[in-house]
Amino acid sequence: MAALTTTRRVAPPTARGGWWHQYVCPAHGTELLSVELLSGQFPAAGGPCQHGCRVDTPAVRGAWLVLSHQAWARRIRLLAHSGDAGSRAEAVALLGEYAEIYATLDDDHDGAQPWMLRGRLFQQALTEAIWATSIGHAAWTLAGSDDVTVALPLLDSLTEAVRQARGVLVEQGRFESNYVAWLDAAGATTSAAAARIRGLSTSDEWIGGELGIYQHIRAAILPDGWEWEGSTYYHGFCLRAYLLALRGVDPPDIPADIVEQLKAMVAVLAGIAAPDGTLPALHDGPYARVPLAAEWLELIALAGQLFAPTGLEAASAHVLGQAGDNHDGLERLLGGWFAGPPLAGPRPARLFTDVGYAVVRAPGIHALLDFGPHGGSHGHHDKLALYLYGNDPWQPDPGQVPYGHREWRAHYRSAAAHPTFRVDGAEPAECAGELCEATETAVTAAVSGAYDNVQARRRVSAGASYLLDSLTVTADRVRTISLGIRPDVPLTVRVEGEMVRTDWAKSLTGWHIASVPAAPMVSAGPGPADDPQRIRNRVDWTAEAERVTYWSVYQAAGARPAVTAVRRDGAGLAIEFADGTVARC
Ligand SMILES: [Zn+2]
Ligand SMILES: [Zn+2]
Repeated sequence: MAALTTTRRVAPPTARGGWWHQYVCPAHGTELLSVELLSGQFPAAGGPCQHGCRVDTPAVRGAWLVLSHQAWARRIRLLAHSGDAGSRAEAVALLGEYAEIYATLDDDHDGAQPWMLRGRLFQQALTEAIWATSIGHAAWTLAGSDDVTVALPLLDSLTEAVRQARGVLVEQGRFESNYVAWLDAAGATTSAAAARIRGLSTSDEWIGGELGIYQHIRAAILPDGWEWEGSTYYHGFCLRAYLLALRGVDPPDIPADIVEQLKAMVAVLAGIAAPDGTLPALHDGPYARVPLAAEWLELIALAGQLFAPTGLEAASAHVLGQAGDNHDGLERLLGGWFAGPPLAGPRPARLFTDVGYAVVRAPGIHALLDFGPHGGSHGHHDKLALYLYGNDPWQPDPGQVPYGHREWRAHYRSAAAHPTFRVDGAEPAECAGELCEATETAVTAAVSGAYDNVQARRRVSAGASYLLDSLTVTADRVRTISLGIRPDVPLTVRVEGEMVRTDWAKSLTGWHIASVPAAPMVSAGPGPADDPQRIRNRVDWTAEAERVTYWSVYQAAGARPAVTAVRRDGAGLAIEFADGTVARC
């Protein structure tokens, strides 16, 4: 844990924050590095990019201010949890400084974009709610400390600001928006903190009220446990808000249907997590990001106090590795979050029929097939994409860049960025697939709305030592039909007669055959969205046909019996093994 120093500190910046998604390099599409966040001043040379740029624009300055205010709020939380009086006094003093800053903001932020729900200290009310939740928890933890009443005007103003913002969303008919999870969390936290400081009881408005957390869970979470947008990031975003809002609640007091939904939300994460703990970055959300790792650690720590076990042990270890050496360890200070012991935990889930994801596991391979609804404004053109995880991120969902980079954002939501099919090189329509078959070892899904007069069907099944993928696309006439292979590891490709063999970082081998002549064109292209400059070999396997089936057999290194060859066998496929056996599919 980084040491908390109590030497003479610099003050938080007083300027309003902008939109953090603009903290991105215009040249490289990478998020700029979070530096000097507690220095009080934007880096003199500009925001640094990992590729050597220094970027200084009003938008980047505004984005840096968001990250800086959030870092200050986190620091106040850390200081508040510290046992020593000096740190707690510093936390109270910082809350007082923010109370002064906030008191000068008598109108909404005037720099917001038209679509934004406006905040005061930030362009967006959502950002303000996230910040307010940290401020509220710090004040809550400090209740009883000397002079903490200095925070009361700030807490009261924040409660009122988020109530107003929530009202605007409700008027717009957007109660299921992920914003509401945070507006409710901020309202719950700031109002409860103020009540504790005043020695009053807390109101139920933000938890059990008609626009509270429980109602939001009922509105925004699908029966299969997913937040309706189908984004791993926004799923965790909402779950963390709920867990933060429920501080001090005794688990048995939570309504039974809400317990089941929260449990299902945890089971989602446990189920999609690869054996090494990687959480696939489905739909919009960062591929990998240090501050996001800290958010997952907090979520896992709080979920582990509500349910035991959570099934998130591998994910916890994985994100701890991503959080890096400078991680402050805040999540380890959050013991006693609820008023009682945890409830029985969920079993990891593998099939999500509402959001449209299915996990298939073969030895050493964790595969995920994507067939659900588009997912609203955070959805991607990823219908029938097949993601492959294992010892390496063989074929991951590539995630998304900060939204301020328009061109790269468009790329990462396109079909071309995903391991799925395309017809005539065109972008598909927003559409939903359907689940045709699901067993313990196989799943089949189909889609007909992606392109006019085109049906596609993908089946993924686990064999004793391999994974078999077959994609059939049927069109109304001869068309150009491609299947994308999109690795985040060094990939080599070799044509061997009618078969194509792929090597994925020596840890996975693929054997590929198509039902009609098809060219496996290899080209260099952007890897996942954490750094679009990380160039990877990719394959566009393309046929001119009315109907084509693409078969791929994947085997992780060390799986036995070893696959030796794959060949056409009538209308199907024969897989030959080193022990002399043959599997016909
Ligand atoms: Zn750059
Ligand atoms: Zn995606």
